[in-house]
Amino acid sequence: MLTYNYYGHACFMLDDGANKILVDPFLTGNPAAAISEKDVQATYILITHAHGDHVGDALNIAVRTGATCVGIPEIVDFGGQRVKAVGMNLGGTLKTEFGFVRMVPALHSSGIAGGIACGYVIGVGGKVVYFAGDTALFGDMKLIGERDKIDYAILPIGGHYTMDPIDAAKAVELLNAANVIPLHYDTWPVIKQNPEDLRRLVNTAKVHVVKPGQSIELK
Ligand code: ZN
Repeated sequence: MLTYNYYGHACFMLDDGANKILVDPFLTGNPAAAISEKDVQATYILITHAHGDHVGDALNIAVRTGATCVGIPEIVDFGGQRVKAVGMNLGGTLKTEFGFVRMVPALHSSGIAGGIACGYVIGVGGKVVYFAGDTALFGDMKLIGERDKIDYAILPIGGHYTMDPIDAAKAVELLNAANVIPLHYDTWPVIKQNPEDLRRLVNTAKVHVVKPGQSIELK
């Protein structure tokens, strides 16, 4: 069984029963955080870019849990701190004990000199999960959906810094995803959105609206 555990903003954890893949662990200072960085579990930590609302508590959690951080080398270097880290880059695929992690492009600023924003295609628990990270809509999402059959697309819908529900609905179409989970909205007034707008706009995929603190099984 594979579960999606949503912790608020862009932070979630995929759990296949043996591996806990924590993504963009911004919890301290996150008004929507459903868990403390001191309590969250992880065996892997994936980081999409170095903005504070994504890299967040990654270093502290990696030190406490011994989790392996995955990200762009400039980001997972953490100023020379000693944590387990795998630096990789766009287009690369990391084989892991749970499956694979592929780093794919995102259209967004990076938050660090030499860094670049990315998304991830994650093969885990017999499913393929695409997390777009922070991004605008871009046409090459079609290529991401052509390489892997996307079971779940996890997409930002807050607008202002990323896609809004209209562009996210187009992304679902390009990706040919079977299911979609929105995030990165309502954390602050500037990214306030109604996720039901996405449900209304998406006809080809199932939309799962998950609130911070909730978990769903990815079937
Ligand atoms: Zn960002």
